[in-house]
Amino acid sequence: MSIRIGLFAGLLVTGVAGLLPLTGSAAEAQTPGNVNYGRPFEPKVRPALLALPPGAVAPQGWLSDWCLAARNGFTGHMSEYHEAFKQAWATDYTMRGEELRWPKGGWPYEGGGYWFDGLARLGYVLHDSFLIQQTQTRLTAFSSRMDGNGVLFLWWLNKNNAEDRKGAQEDNGWPLWASGLFGRALSGYYAASQDPDALHTLETAYGGDGDWMRMSWAMSNPWPAYDTYTWTGNKAIAAKLDALFAPEGGGIAPGGDSWNRYRQPPSPKPGAEDNDHVVHFLESTTPWALGYLWTGKREFLDSALAWHAFFERIAMQPTGVPVADEWYGPTGAFRGTETCDVAAYLWSKATLFAVTGDGAMGDRMERAFFNAAPATVSRDFKTHVYFQSPNRMVCDSPVFDHGPRQAGGYYRPIHSPLCCTAALNRIVPWYVTHMWMATYDNGLAATCYGPSRVNALVAERVPVEITCQTAYPFSEALEFTVKPSKKTTFPLSFRIPGWCSAPELKVNGKAIPAARDSRGFVRVSRKWKPGDTVSLRFPMVPVVETGIDQAKGTAATPAHHALKVMLPEVNPVSGRPYATVSCGPLLFALAIPDTRDANTPDPAARWKFALPLKDTDLTVERKAMPTQWDWPLDAPLTLSARAVAIDWDPAPQDPRLPEAAVPGQSPAERIKLIPYGCTKFRISMFPVAADRP
Ligand SMILES: [Zn+2]
Repeated sequence: MSIRIGLFAGLLVTGVAGLLPLTGSAAEAQTPGNVNYGRPFEPKVRPALLALPPGAVAPQGWLSDWCLAARNGFTGHMSEYHEAFKQAWATDYTMRGEELRWPKGGWPYEGGGYWFDGLARLGYVLHDSFLIQQTQTRLTAFSSRMDGNGVLFLWWLNKNNAEDRKGAQEDNGWPLWASGLFGRALSGYYAASQDPDALHTLETAYGGDGDWMRMSWAMSNPWPAYDTYTWTGNKAIAAKLDALFAPEGGGIAPGGDSWNRYRQPPSPKPGAEDNDHVVHFLESTTPWALGYLWTGKREFLDSALAWHAFFERIAMQPTGVPVADEWYGPTGAFRGTETCDVAAYLWSKATLFAVTGDGAMGDRMERAFFNAAPATVSRDFKTHVYFQSPNRMVCDSPVFDHGPRQAGGYYRPIHSPLCCTAALNRIVPWYVTHMWMATYDNGLAATCYGPSRVNALVAERVPVEITCQTAYPFSEALEFTVKPSKKTTFPLSFRIPGWCSAPELKVNGKAIPAARDSRGFVRVSRKWKPGDTVSLRFPMVPVVETGIDQAKGTAATPAHHALKVMLPEVNPVSGRPYATVSCGPLLFALAIPDTRDANTPDPAARWKFALPLKDTDLTVERKAMPTQWDWPLDAPLTLSARAVAIDWDPAPQDPRLPEAAVPGQSPAERIKLIPYGCTKFRISMFPVAADRP
C-alpha cells in the first residue's frame, strides 16, 4: 500500500492504448491540409494531440491572479534580478572558447533560454504588451546576423574555425544545451506570433550542416528542430532527425554523457541501473517519444515511457514531482526537488501528453502544478527556493545534497547557481498553454483543468470560445459555456481525472454517462450552438495513503556522482513509514505558519503529530475563494483530521521520520490541514501512529 500505487497504477497496468490520434474513429481523421492545428509537414506518426498556440488559452479567476503575480514578480523583471539576464543572448555578449563554460561566462545562455521560454508564453497567455515587447526584443535581436556559419544559435561562432568548434563543445556541449533551450523558447514564440524573423532564426540554426544536435548535452534541440521542420519542411533538418534516430545514430558523446542510454528501456534486474541528474534524465528520455513520431518505431516511445515509469516509481514525491536534489533517489520526507525540475517535469509530461493522448499525463501535470509549483515561489512571486521538501519545519533544514545545499531551501530573489531563478518562469505558462489541446478531427480536448477561457478553431475553421468557470481544484464543479460563432458539429473531449471514481457530466443540464475511454477521456460530439453548457463535477474524497521513506541521509559532501537505484519493492532498505492526506489532485499539509516572511516560521506552532491510520476521521470544510489569490494560509478548502502528539526531534542537519509507527502521548486531537501549496513550512509526509493496544 503505497502512494505510488495509487498514483501510477494507471500507466503501469494499462499502458497507452491504441495510440491513434484522439478521434472518434479513423474515418473521422482529416487530411493534413484540413486539420486546423496541423502543421504543413508531418512526421511519420501523428501525435495524439496538437498543442494550441500560446495565447489561445487565457487564465481566469485564481489562475489569472497567479499569472499576473508571475508577470509582476520574476517574469517581467528578470533583468533587475541579475546582470546575467541582461547578458543572455544579447548581441554585445558573445563568449568564445573557454568563456563558453558555464562558470566562466556561458551561464547566461542557459538562463536566457529558460527565462525566454516562460516570458514568451506568459506574454501571449496574458496578451500583455509589456511582456511581448520584451520577448520580441530579446528573441529576434540577432536574426539578421544568422548567416548559416554559426553553431546552432551561437551566431557569432564560425563552425569552420577549429577554436570556435571546440568552444561550442566545452563542458560536454554545454553551449549546445543552452542553444536548445533558446530554440524551445523561440519555437513557442513563433507558434504564438508567426514572426518570420523567428522562423528564419530557427531554420538557419537547425538547417545548417554539422552534427551539433547529436552531441552530448545537445538533447534539448531535437524538439524545436522538429517544430521547425513541421513549419518549413526543411530537408536538411529532416536529414538530421533521420540521422539522430537511425539504428546507428543517436547522440554522439565524447564526454560519456550520451543520451543513447535511454534508447532502450531500463533493465528489470534489481540494481542494474544508475540514477541520473534529473534535468539530464528528463531532457534525455523525452526525445525518444519524438523518435517514435519521426520513425514510427513504437519501441522508442515504449522506452521513454518505461524510463518515466521506473523513475516515478522510485522517486515520486506526494507533491507531484520526483526527488531531484539534484539526482533522483527514493521518495523521502526530507528529500529535495530542484525548482528546475518542477519546470522540466511539467514540460516532459505536457510533451508526452501530446504524443500519447494519455489522460494520466494530465493527472501528473495537475498534481505537480497544484502542489509542487506554488511551493517554488513566495506568495508575491518575488523570491524562490532552489529546493523544496515535503516537510519543512525550520528554515535551514534539511541540508540538500547538491547546489546551494541547505541555503537552497530559503526563499530568496536569486540562488547560486542561477538555473532555478531562470527556470521557474516556465512553470505557470507551460501549464496554462496546455490546458486545452486540439484533436485531429478538428475538435478540442480539455486536458488540464482550472479557470480558463479558450479561443480556438473547430470543425471547418469555425471560431469557438469556451469559458470554464470554476475554483478547481479548490472546488469540484466546472461550468463550461460553449460559444461557436455559428451552430456547428464538432467533438469536445474532457479528461476524467484518474483519482475520480464518480464523475458527473451534464450537457445543457441533462446528465449523460461520463465513462472514460481507454485514454481517460469522455468525448461529446454534437451540434453545438452559442450558449450551450457543459457541467462537470469531480467529487473529491479525502484519502490517507501510506508509503515507506527509503531515502538515504544527507551526503557529507556535495559531489555529483551516480548511485544505484531500484524499485521500492526490491530495495533492501527497510525504510520509515509515512502517511499523506490528499483530496482530489491536492496534497494536504499541517501548516507551520510563516510569520514575517516565507523564511520565518511561527516558533509556537505545534507540528509533532502522527496520523492514526485506522481512524483519521477526515472531514472537509469549504468557504468562498478570496477576492485575490496568492496561495493563502487562510485557504478556501481545509481538512480536519484526528492525530496524536508524539515525541519526535528530527536533527535539522539530517532530519528523518521515526523508524517505525510511534505510540501517541495522549488521546487523539483534531488538526487542521491546508493545501500544501498554501504552506511555506509544513508537515505533509506524516509519521504514522501505532495502533493502541
Ligand atoms: Zn536549478
